[in-house]
Amino acid sequence: MQHFIKDPVFQVLADAARNMGFPAYVVGGYVRDKIMGRPSVDIDVVVVGNGIEVARQFAALTGQNERVTVFKNFGTAMVKYSADDDWEIEFVGARKESYRRNSRKPIVEDGTLEDDQNRRDFTINAMAISLQRESYGELIDPFGGLKDIDARIIRTPLDPDITFSDDPLRMMRAIRFATQLDFDIEIKTFEAIKSNASRIKIVSMERITDELNKIVLAKVPSKGFKMLELTGILRIIFPHMQDLKGAEFINGKGHKDNFYHTLKVLDNLSENTDNLWLRWAAILHDIAKPATKKYEPEIGWTFHGHEFIGSKMVPKIFARLKLPLNEKMKYVQKLVLLHLRPIVLAESHVTDSAVRRLLFEAGDDVDDLMMLCEADITSKNREKVKRYLNNFKVVRQKLVDIEEMDRIRNWQPPVSGEVIMETFDIKPGRVVGDIKTEIREAILEGEIHNEFDEAFAFMIKVGEKHGLKQVKPKPDVAPLPDES
Ligand code: ATP
Repeated sequence: MQHFIKDPVFQVLADAARNMGFPAYVVGGYVRDKIMGRPSVDIDVVVVGNGIEVARQFAALTGQNERVTVFKNFGTAMVKYSADDDWEIEFVGARKESYRRNSRKPIVEDGTLEDDQNRRDFTINAMAISLQRESYGELIDPFGGLKDIDARIIRTPLDPDITFSDDPLRMMRAIRFATQLDFDIEIKTFEAIKSNASRIKIVSMERITDELNKIVLAKVPSKGFKMLELTGILRIIFPHMQDLKGAEFINGKGHKDNFYHTLKVLDNLSENTDNLWLRWAAILHDIAKPATKKYEPEIGWTFHGHEFIGSKMVPKIFARLKLPLNEKMKYVQKLVLLHLRPIVLAESHVTDSAVRRLLFEAGDDVDDLMMLCEADITSKNREKVKRYLNNFKVVRQKLVDIEEMDRIRNWQPPVSGEVIMETFDIKPGRVVGDIKTEIREAILEGEIHNEFDEAFAFMIKVGEKHGLKQVKPKPDVAPLPDES
């Protein structure tokens, strides 16, 4: 394993540990990733002794004194070290852990390397490479992690029932690693997740969502969601998504299973984007289908308004999952709300004003919306897929053409509130807003162009309707529009 620690940084780590008189090992994710041929710059060093002292010594040897961050409570320290790579190195004293029933925080005591490997979550994460002079580069793999990497298997080193009950976050981690690395979870390990699923309740939502987001960002995220569902964890952490599962039949007519449909959309989209929030829009685009489902004998199953109700559900779901309640959430809401609109635009008789309205409402997110809509085509009928994709090509062209003509995407009112007030000599108030709205509607309907002169002339007419008189001439230069 020497070739995995041939960077000069490891020699310095070895010197630092020897100078302090402690055995030290590289352990965990770095060893796993290197064996798998994945890049990694995060090194975990386990020290049989005082990890913080070795961290300080390492910093002294590399001249990085000011870059040691010590976490006294945990007995760990972190050093950032930039050489050929930007390394982030964590030093931790080898420890033995014991758990209580109601907390995932263990009682910790000093331990041996073996104790430390025993406390690790999976065999593939429990391998260590020695930094000692006499065994430099030797792999210490007590649980067959190497074999499990070969077989692409996630397995706990000790009894999985105890491992997961001790720290239920490990269940999320098992599913996350299986999804990220495209591994299977060994059967006994998987069964133990199933029987311990309800223990996930003692883990904070923030930690759960950290792992969930890593699943969402994987190459094929559906794999993780299917495992979350099969183990019973999804029902607990994200019941709205669980509710998408299943198909109801009345008079032999069924609807599609919206859970698997959603996962297909998510996978489709993930082939084209790493944008976490666009992926969340895929997860949530049909989230209100169960709430809006109806069987109408003439038509069959309908989900009227699911896009609207769905967008209203987004803030509650974000709050529950401890996702940010900021512009990311608004973006997801917007995409959920608009996800059916491009389908309508594909129809041939569609007016320019409908296209303009979508540009206005979607703004700069219109391309993301189109990506979502294209991913939403999950038919197994190839002819249908081709036809739908072609329709969306036409929509994209319409969007480009209208945008070129009218520049609606980042629409700003061509006539500002200031100009309205000055021209009619009125104070701020509702009528100013009403006039602005009428101008905007006229532009979106195509009655006037999106430019100052036409908008000003139109404004005068609207003002007259409101009983207002022009008291100031049109400004020579169009003033800067205000924010809308
Ligand atoms: P990634 O960087 O993708 O998260 P990683 O394996 O480096 O992968 P970390 O969360 O940084 O993951 O953890 C580092 C190591 O600490 C792991 O490889 C594992 O050995 C151990 N570990 C982390 N969390 C746990 C846990 N909850 N239970 C047991 N061991 C854990």
